[in-house]
Amino acid sequence: PLTPIKLNLQHLVRARKANQPGWEDMFDRFSDSLIDQINALSNIATEFSNFAKMPTGNFQSVSLTKIIDDSITLFSAYPNISIGRNYDPNSNLAVHADREQLHRVFVNLLKNAIQAIGRDKKGEIVVSISIMESKYALVCVVDNGGGIAPEVESKLFSPNFTTKSGGMGLGLAISKGIVEVIGGDIWFETEYGVGTKFCVKLPLTSQDIS
Ligand code: ADP
Repeated sequence: PLTPIKLNLQHLVRARKANQPGWEDMFDRFSDSLIDQINALSNIATEFSNFAKMPTGNFQSVSLTKIIDDSITLFSAYPNISIGRNYDPNSNLAVHADREQLHRVFVNLLKNAIQAIGRDKKGEIVVSISIMESKYALVCVVDNGGGIAPEVESKLFSPNFTTKSGGMGLGLAISKGIVEVIGGDIWFETEYGVGTKFCVKLPLTSQDIS
């Protein structure tokens, strides 16, 4: 956004100098758009700093079930979308992770599912948790958001890859880093035109949950 910010300001300065009629209206319009663009820059800076900070974290035994519950609650207000929980809310499955980072992974998966569905159709998302090979938790987020085109499937986890006009394409790249640092894995299965399932596999811990 830096180039449009600069161009807008230069345009405004010229209009003011020439005392161009209507420059005050222009000032109001431009200042709104400048604030939007500065907010966008601020988001980009935050995403990049999260990306840079990733390898470190406050790793401890955390309740996976609670982190997932909290993430789902954040997205409960979309009138066209229902989010089903296919797990026992009292199963206190514990994983060794940074709570905030893990929360970010599930928030990003749910946000992507919701964006893939959009506002105009009835959306259904189901989050399931199961145990895999007696030592991993497998969390899957299934959506009916229309799927992923075959030609972009291989790029999804690359930093900066996005198909959204306001997207930064860092969410999945960051998520992959977060999950791999704690010995987990993340992948997806998709059917173009139908929907997508993202799965996260995380090693379970037997330690007490903090
Ligand atoms: P962003 O959301 O900023 O685009 P992400 O890294 O989270 O960044 O996602 C990258 C791209 O992966 C998205 O732009 C979208 O094309 C695709 N994607 C991710 N999740 C889904 C999904 N559930 N359904 C369809 N496409 C998805």
